Amino acid sequence: MSGEKIFYDIHLHAFDLSHPCLYAFARRITPVIETPLLGEIAGAITPLLWLSKKNEILNLLSVMERGVGEMLTLLQKDLQIPLRIGDFEYDEVVITPLMMDFWYTLADQPHINYKFIPKSVVPQTLDTLNGIADYWKQNSTNGLKKMRPLPFMGLNTQRCHLNGQKVIPDVNDTKLESLLDKYFNSNIAKGNIYPGTNKFANISNNCGRFNGELEPSDPTNLTNYFAGIKLYPGLGFDPWPTNDDAEMEKVAYLYKTCADRQIPITVHCSDGGYKIGNIKQAEDRTHPRKWKHVLERYENLKINLAHFGGREGIFDYAYYRLINSDAGVSSAGSWTETIAELIAKYENAYTDISYAGHYDGVYAALAKILAKKPNIAGKIMYGSDFSINLLDSFGYAEYTKQFLHDKNISDNHKRMMCNANPAKFLWK
Ligand SMILES: [Zn+2]
Repeated sequence: MSGEKIFYDIHLHAFDLSHPCLYAFARRITPVIETPLLGEIAGAITPLLWLSKKNEILNLLSVMERGVGEMLTLLQKDLQIPLRIGDFEYDEVVITPLMMDFWYTLADQPHINYKFIPKSVVPQTLDTLNGIADYWKQNSTNGLKKMRPLPFMGLNTQRCHLNGQKVIPDVNDTKLESLLDKYFNSNIAKGNIYPGTNKFANISNNCGRFNGELEPSDPTNLTNYFAGIKLYPGLGFDPWPTNDDAEMEKVAYLYKTCADRQIPITVHCSDGGYKIGNIKQAEDRTHPRKWKHVLERYENLKINLAHFGGREGIFDYAYYRLINSDAGVSSAGSWTETIAELIAKYENAYTDISYAGHYDGVYAALAKILAKKPNIAGKIMYGSDFSINLLDSFGYAEYTKQFLHDKNISDNHKRMMCNANPAKFLWK
């Protein structure tokens, strides 16, 4: 396998309908506005919104009704389009399905009788690993272009405990140290993976080997594997919980372990997406300024501040802030600008442009940013955000083609986005 011929999609999901917390999912695809009057207006226009997005929503539900294995088969078929940039063609694909921990205590639901309860990430993990194994058995030798799914584990430290300090019985009952030791240590098959120089070969060769056992009787023969960790502040994870000492101790342990073992983390970092609880607090937790505190202390932490602040942030940065910052206009609070600063400053900080690629003009805006900030070209990664991107995109092949056929970004930058940068983020 020659590394430079691999096309990477660093941000996508392979959820089926049973995996997301449906409460969060419903809030994502219908507007939630907490101001009373606006909330009522939003409630009234929701059916119209649904109607205008009917085909996109059905398209998404059709994909999510499939099992993970079937979903991956569908992606591999879509990727049989020529993956060509200039006269360079990719002959293999790596995708990193990001699992998400939807565990969250939903405090206040006065309007319903049977309250939503925290949702375990375990069934999702089993389904994903089993789905990858099924897909691999059926399709790895089918003569089509190879596509390797290398999953990221969904984690929320709030459901974990540290040093045996279990705070809420039956809730935070996963021991964080053991979890990280088990999946991100040296015992996957025979290889020394985290930290390890053969990470790329070991993890890719392990693809599809899962034998159905999350708790194998022989711990030296662990067949599950993860390429990294996915965090989601909108679903309750707080990257820098200054007012909660116990939680701070846990996140500090997580960052130190990930920095020491070079475990890549992808974190949702735009003002869109899933938001549970109070919207304002969810956005505060998600804002990239939180990660300034983290990166100041853990410079070696490999982190992808995903979505580059979102489509509007990218436009605003390219066409307003980048121009006005020269004129001394203050731009404190811009998500995209904060991310641009962090990825410029910290060697191991990255971003991806997943989901946004669908919108007309986003790649042109990105080309503007790259022209003005060439020092961040090595930090921006290509991603699709499939399947949730189907709310705005027709399909996976179409989304991929928009990137490949774009004329604004140079071939060299494109190749960095879909190969060199993600390879560095994952394997370096
Ligand atoms: Zn996503």
